[in-house]
Amino acid sequence: MKRLVDILRDTHHLQAHDYAALLTAPDGDDIAYLRQQAQQVAVDNFGHGIFVRGLVEVTNVCRNDCLYCGIRKSNTHVARYTLTHDEVMQCCQQGYSLGFRTFVLQGGELPRDKAQWIEQLVADIRASWPECAITLSLGEWSYETYKRWLQAGANRYLLRHETHNTAHYATLHPATMSLTTRLECLEALKQLGYQVGTGIMVGSPGQTVGHLVEDIQFIEQFQPHMIGLGPFVPHHDTPLGHHPAGSADLTTRLYAIFRLMFPKVLLPSTTALNTIHPEGRLMGIKAGANVVMPNLSPAPVRNQYSLYDGKAVTDAEAAEGIHQLEQQLATIGYHIDWGRGDAPNNPPFMNNL
Ligand code: SAH
Repeated sequence: MKRLVDILRDTHHLQAHDYAALLTAPDGDDIAYLRQQAQQVAVDNFGHGIFVRGLVEVTNVCRNDCLYCGIRKSNTHVARYTLTHDEVMQCCQQGYSLGFRTFVLQGGELPRDKAQWIEQLVADIRASWPECAITLSLGEWSYETYKRWLQAGANRYLLRHETHNTAHYATLHPATMSLTTRLECLEALKQLGYQVGTGIMVGSPGQTVGHLVEDIQFIEQFQPHMIGLGPFVPHHDTPLGHHPAGSADLTTRLYAIFRLMFPKVLLPSTTALNTIHPEGRLMGIKAGANVVMPNLSPAPVRNQYSLYDGKAVTDAEAAEGIHQLEQQLATIGYHIDWGRGDAPNNPPFMNNL
């Protein structure tokens, strides 16, 4: 098994059955070696610095109805909110003062007529903090809309494909959504020149090792700049709320595989991982992750942005807990890297379409 790790590290590629072997081997010495090699590759490329992104959860209003997600439109138990333009700007201001140089605007999928509101927001953030990166994570929109947001000043876009298996995709999403549309969105974003992130929920209901291998092969071919991976965590008010959460073991194996596959990719240690395991954030870093995304949303709305039960929203998970995060990183010899942390093969400003 260690030989497979060495091959993946040296050639950045394995055969499908070898990925499956790494995903299913008992969590012993070989898997420890996988994680340790991945951590070493991250250190070789980024040192002991961890990039931070300030996450602003702009809205929990959503026109979609994903079966796993707590803010799906059918969930009538959610108190819906959308931050005002000024509130989002204040979040960024607070983040900027704390030292953040990347803002991530994430949210449910607003009605289509809100595209212009987002465009204005992006333009104002760009004008106020010209040196900062703006990342959007707002779901599926048209090529034209993505283009307008890019021209307004956005740099990056996160859109997980969730699963690359069509049948599995259909069990996680309503009939109105399709894997084809999701992949078309990802292609559009890439073609437009965004730094693009994709990824999956690990341990989502019905997911098999075969599905994970399909995901790995898709990501290998898509060559994203960022890879977002967190465990599935049930939300009690969703149709999939009775399924068990994904595991930290499998999530961190995947971090390690992707780090060895893409030495320079931006790979967050996610809030969902830290939600299912108290040491999750550091476990992610020890498996090759190099980004964390503290929460900059106003405290009262953090619990309303409830994608899953038990979401970690305080302490080192929160932007105002940044010193706690620094202390936590220091326990394993790491520190915050306050740079923008662009994907290496992208110039920092590419909004000159
Ligand atoms: N609406 C946007 C962004 C918000 S959701 C979009 O869909 O892209 C951001 C990510 O949260 C999703 O891509 C999904 O992978 C994750 N997520 C949603 N529900 C989850 C759950 N129950 N457990 C773990 N992750 C979840």
